[in-house]
Amino acid sequence: MTGYGDTYYARTLTDTSQRSSLNGTVNADVVVVGGGLAGLTAALELSRSGRSVVVLEAERVGWGASGRNGGFVGPGYATSLANITRMVGAERAQSLYRLSMEGARIVEENINSLAMTDNPRVYGKISVLRYDDPDGLRRQCETMQREFGYRLEVMQTDAVRTVLQSTKYYQAVYDPASFHFHPLNYARSLAQAIEAQGGQIFEKSRVLGCDLDRPGKIVRTAQGEVRAQDVILAGGGYTDGLLPRLRRSILPIATYVLLTEAAPERIAEAVRTPMAISDNRRAGDYYRLVDEGRRLLWGGRITTRTTEPRRLAEMMQRTMVATYPQLKDVRVETAWSGLMAYARHLMPLIGQLQPGVWYVFGFGGRGMNTTAIGGRVIAEGILGSSDRYRLYEPFGLTWSGGPFGIAAAQLTYWTYQAMDFAKEHRAARAS
Ligand SMILES: Cc1cc2nc3c(=O)[nH]c(=O)nc-3n(C[C@H](O)[C@H](O)[C@H](O)COP(=O)(O)OP(=O)(O)OC[C@H]3O[C@@H](n4cnc5c(N)ncnc54)[C@H](O)[C@@H]3O)c2cc1C
Repeated sequence: MTGYGDTYYARTLTDTSQRSSLNGTVNADVVVVGGGLAGLTAALELSRSGRSVVVLEAERVGWGASGRNGGFVGPGYATSLANITRMVGAERAQSLYRLSMEGARIVEENINSLAMTDNPRVYGKISVLRYDDPDGLRRQCETMQREFGYRLEVMQTDAVRTVLQSTKYYQAVYDPASFHFHPLNYARSLAQAIEAQGGQIFEKSRVLGCDLDRPGKIVRTAQGEVRAQDVILAGGGYTDGLLPRLRRSILPIATYVLLTEAAPERIAEAVRTPMAISDNRRAGDYYRLVDEGRRLLWGGRITTRTTEPRRLAEMMQRTMVATYPQLKDVRVETAWSGLMAYARHLMPLIGQLQPGVWYVFGFGGRGMNTTAIGGRVIAEGILGSSDRYRLYEPFGLTWSGGPFGIAAAQLTYWTYQAMDFAKEHRAARAS
């Protein structure tokens, strides 16, 4: 057992070595609570700039959402550019969107500079509609080209159905610059890079208490403590009650992934592209071929329930077969869940709580690029080299609504599902 559960990524992990837990007192410039991609990216950027860093992870590096997700990397946030513009105006929204693009480039640069040969990238993402709307997609592509010089192309329904053999699908947007990869191997490579720079990482080291109200901060685990000038809190959807204000500002939302058995011929009757695929529903499906096209990794559904459903594999298989009936007899080999952190405004929570206490979380379902830029701007804030983290200031630590927020989120999701269903139903009747 690797300590990562039975996920595809745990099964294909290239480095299984385990780090020790914290024992005794360690001094550092910066201590990072949470070894997901937000905490690890911040730690790497800081250690590259000569700061001594300690990362404390409750389970294992990349054990949370960062090591169990779809592995899709591209620009954007968990909410649309139009929504961000409504919240903060066009100018700031554009700056924020550019940061999200930089986030995707950081991941690419890290893969290149760290020579990650165990992590091949597969370029190209197809975002498909489940109703007919060629004009809407054309406008979207034009906006991205005009505002950001970012190239997207519309794929017509015939072209889409040639590579994705589902009658549910209509037009799509093709994004040649997005890619998919192995997020857990990536997280573990970042951890090795931090250690190569002299940083220290402790696994099975949950932070249980802290003293943050003085210049020399202290964070404590069951068997040790770290004393540091700066503390970064990066617990993602697993943020616990360590600082109640942080916990209150997010809703942990679960989402699910399945891995099929190896069935290359039958899978090729459905999916004929190695690219990343997602549909345009609010919490739609996303999937890709893995294991050299022999298996399908399929994600979808969200819920406010944080425990894993009993018949998760069956539930997820129904989701897949609803789009591709030809996959009815393809067995699901394993399925798993992960928690994402959502703030009410659906934007990341990035900032400084009080002098020397930084937070970087709330990336929702779009975390591969945003954790990278979030980690970088927090590192820049600590180093004093920029105050770009302040661009996220309008998205404060607002109360997520507690149990009422959970009920409201579930209700919103069901409403969106009903709206998506109605749109699809109209498209099916019209065709
Ligand atoms: C199933 C799934 C699919 C997804 N697919 C995609 C995708 O394809 N593309 C994309 O861009 N995004 C995707 N996401 C979202 C993305 O994975 C997350 O937004 C991102 O990984 C969050 O990273 P993080 O570092 O903030 O949190 P996490 O990766 O969850 O890391 C937080 C870590 O903090 C640790 N921790 C918490 N409290 C403590 C404590 N007190 N002491 C010590 N450690 C603590 C936890 O153990 C955990 O390891 C997906 C998410 C899920 C769950």
